[in-house]
Amino acid sequence: MHDFAVIGLGAIGGATAAELVRRGHSVVGFDRYTPPHTMGSAHSDTRMIREAWYRGSPYMPLVRDAWRRWADLERTSGRTLLRTAGALMMGPEDGRVFAGTPLRDAARPDTGDILLSVGEVVERFPWLRPDPGTVTIYEPGAAVLSLEACLEATLEAAEGAEVADLRFDEPAIEWSASASGIRVRTERGEYRARRLAIAAGAWTPQLLPGLSLPLEVERTVQYWFEPAGAHSGVLAEGPAWVWELEREGTWYGFPPSARGLKAGMHFQAGRGTDVERVDREVGAPETEDLRRLFARYAPGVAGALAHASVCLYTNTPDEDFILDRHPEHSRVAIFAGGSGHAFKFAPTLGSLMADLLTDEPPSRDLPRFSIDRFG
Ligand SMILES: Cc1cc2nc3c(=O)[nH]c(=O)nc-3n(C[C@H](O)[C@H](O)[C@H](O)COP(=O)(O)OP(=O)(O)OC[C@H]3O[C@@H](n4cnc5c(N)ncnc54)[C@H](O)[C@@H]3O)c2cc1C
Repeated sequence: MHDFAVIGLGAIGGATAAELVRRGHSVVGFDRYTPPHTMGSAHSDTRMIREAWYRGSPYMPLVRDAWRRWADLERTSGRTLLRTAGALMMGPEDGRVFAGTPLRDAARPDTGDILLSVGEVVERFPWLRPDPGTVTIYEPGAAVLSLEACLEATLEAAEGAEVADLRFDEPAIEWSASASGIRVRTERGEYRARRLAIAAGAWTPQLLPGLSLPLEVERTVQYWFEPAGAHSGVLAEGPAWVWELEREGTWYGFPPSARGLKAGMHFQAGRGTDVERVDREVGAPETEDLRRLFARYAPGVAGALAHASVCLYTNTPDEDFILDRHPEHSRVAIFAGGSGHAFKFAPTLGSLMADLLTDEPPSRDLPRFSIDRFG
């Protein structure tokens, strides 16, 4: 019997397995595919890690802890995982982007963040064209995580240990918990462990049908364009942006990588779907919608479309994560509801999952992540 079973070896489950192994426990882990893969939430080149978004919120210590853990993994793995590029938060002062980030906190002089007027944005980043009244916080220290390298380094750290048995392309079909431990049934066999972590991303409802968690799976598209125009040379230096617009929704962009200039919509209505029936094709009209945003707000920088890919958010109603014990089975810990912002926290969330599973007092206060907050 293994000490722990982990279902889902994506961003958070992979980090949970790696942390349990690091603490000396034996782990059997399962994924329905071989991460990094393109079917869930963790793929497509890059993720942002930044503080300004979380300043003044309980996420702040988590983001700092995660940043330190990514830097440690970068050192031990010998891979490049983090690149400082800076990031902009933009939008109306009373909009959704700034809802959790009081401007007075984000723009305090001791933070290192810089509040920019529209004119100052254009002066520093001449390819951007904000509407009058747009508020901007520039966080020069924000970084871009190389997603696939992060996942590979995490799983390699776990797999390198003899106590790890990570089983890819082996979906868990069902699990049960009893006084004697956990059983996980897959297409290939049955496995036993003392305790279980479930971190199945957009597939969570399939593994927890009795809980009726209020999770909404959302289809999002990431686009890569060839960098074009007079600014293509400096675009790569950054910054990334998350930019709320009055009518169109909230869009984001990343400094170009080898795959191109990545952009997409962050908040946008009407994208609810189901992991089994999600449309994984990207249509010309939706690509044109994004092109219109570039034409209006960052003209001339997006050249030919190089690639597009569908990615999934799994949202809770309040956009805070679920990280808690199963209400009926104390041997089972659950992570769910990444809500479009969990990747940066992965090593910290993996460590918090390991705390729950090993009955360590949690190293952080977690009330915001409890399952029972939904009633
Ligand atoms: C377009 C986009 C942009 C984003 N940008 C950012 C960003 O800039 N910064 C940030 O911090 N976050 C960002 N996120 C969010 C972040 O990527 C997710 O919150 C995070 O990947 C969620 O991790 P997860 O482990 O819950 O899910 P996943 O990483 O999807 O992992 C779940 C895993 O479970 C496996 N699985 C499912 N069912 C089973 C089963 N029955 N048996 C075995 N395995 C199973 C799946 O195969 C998958 O590998 C973004 C997300 C998207 C889609």
